[in-house]
Formats: sequence, C-alpha cells, structure tokens
Amino acid sequence: MTVTADGPLPETAYDVAVVGAGVVGCAIARALARHPRLRIALVEAQDDVGQGTSKANTSILHTGFDAAPGTLEARLVRDGYERLGAYAAETGIPVERVGALLVAWDEEQLAALPRLAAKAERNGYHDTRPLSPGELYAREPRLGPGALGALHVPGESIICPWTTTLAYATQAVHAGVDLHLNTPVQHASRQDGGHRLLTSRGTLHARRLVNAAGLHADTVDRLLGHEDFTVTPRRGQLLVYDKLARPLVRHILLPVPTALGKGVLVAPTVYGNVLLGPTAEDLDDKRATGSTAEGLAGLRDKGRRILPDLLQEEVTAVYAGLRAATGQEDYRIAAHPGQGYVTVGGIRSTGLTASLAIAAHVTGLLAETGLDLGPRRELEPVTMPNLGESFPRPYQRPELIAADPEYGTLVCHCERVSRGEIRDALAGPIPPRTLEGLRRRTRARAGRCQGFYCGAAVRELFERARA
Ligand SMILES: Cc1cc2nc3c(=O)[nH]c(=O)nc-3n(C[C@H](O)[C@H](O)[C@H](O)COP(=O)(O)OP(=O)(O)OC[C@H]3O[C@@H](n4cnc5c(N)ncnc54)[C@H](O)[C@@H]3O)c2cc1C
Repeated sequence: MTVTADGPLPETAYDVAVVGAGVVGCAIARALARHPRLRIALVEAQDDVGQGTSKANTSILHTGFDAAPGTLEARLVRDGYERLGAYAAETGIPVERVGALLVAWDEEQLAALPRLAAKAERNGYHDTRPLSPGELYAREPRLGPGALGALHVPGESIICPWTTTLAYATQAVHAGVDLHLNTPVQHASRQDGGHRLLTSRGTLHARRLVNAAGLHADTVDRLLGHEDFTVTPRRGQLLVYDKLARPLVRHILLPVPTALGKGVLVAPTVYGNVLLGPTAEDLDDKRATGSTAEGLAGLRDKGRRILPDLLQEEVTAVYAGLRAATGQEDYRIAAHPGQGYVTVGGIRSTGLTASLAIAAHVTGLLAETGLDLGPRRELEPVTMPNLGESFPRPYQRPELIAADPEYGTLVCHCERVSRGEIRDALAGPIPPRTLEGLRRRTRARAGRCQGFYCGAAVRELFERARA
C-alpha cells in the first residue's frame, strides 16, 4: 500500500496515471485497480483526496430525471445513481432516500411540471408524480404559503460525499494503486510512446494518462495540446443550518430549474443538518471558494419563501464549491487514442452521482486506446465509518463500546464523535494531514460550536498521531 506526500516519485513507468484525486479520479483509479496487471498512479496536487469540488457540493444522489435527454451526462448519471446506491449499501456510505419535491410557486412553473415529468420519462425515470397543493402541504407542512403544486421525485436521495471519495481511494490503495499527494502536474511531454509528467516532486512516467483535474482539466488538456474547452468556475454558496432545523423538512425541496442550473434548494443532509443553496455565479478565479454577504443574503431571501421557519434557526457554517462549467450541457469526456490519453472534463453539477459510471466509461475508453487491461478481479470490500444520522453511530452501540471503551468517550460533543473514531481515522490507510481532513473523516469540529469546545482536544489527538 503506497501513499506518499513528499520525497521523490518512483522512477519506473506506470501503466496509467490518473491526474486529480477528486471523486471522479478516485473512482477511475478504483475501477482500474480491478485489473491486477496494471500499475496505476493517482496523482493529486493537494494534500488529501477530495479537496476540490468534491468536498463542497449539495450531496444529492441524483436520479438524473432532469438531465438533458440523450447526453452522455444523462446516461452516466442514471447509471451512476444505480451503481453508487448499491456501492453505498455495501460499504456503509450513508444514504437517505428522502425523495424530492419540485415546487411550483407560480402558474408558469406549474405549467412546466408536466414537461419535467415527460423529460424524466425520456431519461428513463418513470416514478415522478404530480402533487396537488393539498398533497404537497400534507407532505411538507412547514413549506411557505402560496405553492401551487409539485412534482414528486421519490428516488432523489442524500449521501455523504466525503465518505464516497474516501471509500473509492481506500479501495484503490488497498488494491495496489499508488497515491501521490502534494504532486501538482505542471508540464507534460511525450517520451518513448508514453507520457513524461513534470511535477513539483520530480518526473513521473506513464504509458496512459487520464485527466480528471476538475476545474483544471482545461489547463491539463492544453499541456497535451488540446484547446477543446475552457472551464468557467460557477460558484455555489451554501448555508448550513443547525440540527434543530432538521424536523422542519422531510424532502429535498427543489425549485423548477432555469437555464443557469438547478436553482436554490432546501435539503436535509445525512449529518442531520439542513442546507440552503447553492448560488450560481460565473467567475474567473478558480480559487474563489469564499462566501459573500450578497450571495448569502440572496439565499436567505429565496429560503424565506420556501421554508420561512428555517430562517429562524441558527446557521452552523457556510461554504462554497465551484462547478466546472464549460458552456456545454454535457460532460467533456474524450479519448485521444493516438496519445494514449483520456480527458474527463466538464463534470459539472452531477459528478458525485455519476462517478462510478464515469469510471466504467473511462475504463472502456482506455481499452479502446489500446490499453490491455488484462484479467479482472473483484476488489476486497471496504467498510467505511458511518457518519450518517439514520444509522447507529459508534456512541449509540453498546456492544462496540463494551469491546472498546474508546468508542464511548466523546471528544466532539456537538457531533458526538468518539476518541475511537478519531483514533481510527488517524491510523487509516489514507490518514488526514490537516484538521479539515480529519473533520471530513469523522465530523469532529463540524457541529454548532465549530470546534470552539473540542478544538484543543481534537488538535492534541491529531498532533500526537502525526508526531
Ligand atoms: C455547489 C455544488 C453543488 C453540487 N451538487 C452536487 C450534487 O448534489 N450531486 C452531485 O452528484 N454532484 C454535485 N455537484 C458536482 C460534483 O461535486 C462535481 O461534479 C464533482 O465533485 C467533480 O469531481 P472531480 O473529481 O471531477 O473534481 P474535483 O473534486 O475538483 O477534483 C479534481 C482534483 O484534481 C486536482 N488537480 C487539478 N489540477 C491538478 C494538477 N495539475 N495536478 C494534480 N492534481 C490536480 C485538484 O486538486 C482536485 O483535487 C455539485 C457541485 C457544486 C459546486
């Protein structure tokens, strides 16, 4: 098992290098790891997996009911929904099948609902159902007044995005993939029919290259001589409401979509919070993940109409993620067989859901570029720690605590995170290198006090393990 974050890179050539360890790159590395003859590197610029867009989204497992019919994205989201739902059940990634309500607030939106139902049919999703105002308010009693009806999409679900990425990466690393963190790819050239990648940690050689660099997929594409698309970061700001708000909402409350995207939603999270967002702002800066007073005020205005009582609740946190928009309503996945290179770009607002299907598709494209995948095996299953509220957490499991009292000693009281969970995360195959990474693995410091109470204790455990 090889995970590196400093020092020189191996000199011998890999069969495939995957650039970018977001949810998509990790899924691709995991899919390739099924082929034991391949030597695979997963190369990431930052110090952890899932540090880009994959850590900051709305965490919905989409059915794909509203995708543009006939697109690759529509197909891969639909397929990915099934694959990730099954994978989550196997690995313990928390999923809640809460369903979505697409709420119409005026006559125009009401008129759009049958069109959306027909679109869902064209996308192979047959379970939508129109709801009268009476049925809608019976399902969501705290919804703001004035809604004229809704479309019920029962399959829409919520999922833990952090555990998903970490599960893929963990399984990949267990199966022999070399994960190189802190390794930004800065230049690429051809050598002996393969790729020579210049990184801040030296040169890495690979026969095949997969570009899963998210917001920077266009930059990496240009290193390979392609000018096919430009990524425009589309910022989505979100407000996270405290757990006391959770009983206010039962479904994901979606607006009727516009040309700019899916619009502002109210959605529960698997951690027991409620999200309000995201905004949709096209920017120039791929690092602009800050929140703005204007953006948050706009979200509050929209939220007040959807779920007025939500605005009375405490905000626990705010965050923003950047979608990789390319001006095209589809992914930008392309094989370049002559170069032994596959671009996986433009994975906009559905990449979490579609990740496993994208990985299967890209594996097929690599085979088409002439890569001999060799035999295929099943991977050793992994069981991920449960961060979700709808299944028992360690502090709620007497048998676990009896066997190991560390699971009964709480460190983070807001999120009920035990010493045992923090210890396990710090000793994991891909240990966190920052407190933020520890938070994504355990939820420690993610609650209403944001670490004010437990911060010092969590830091001490972290620093002791890293010493
Ligand atoms: C506000 C918002 C809401 C969303 N909601 C949902 C949702 O509800 N459901 C859903 O399915 N999807 C959703 N998405 C979309 C989803 O989050 C993305 O599609 C997905 O995370 C993209 O993953 P990725 O691996 O392609 O990109 P990233 O996670 O950005 O990973 C790319 C990685 O490449 C690395 N990298 C870049 N350049 C280099 C280089 N030169 N060398 C080495 N490494 C490099 C980066 O550091 C990064 O870690 C949402 C997105 C946003 C922004």
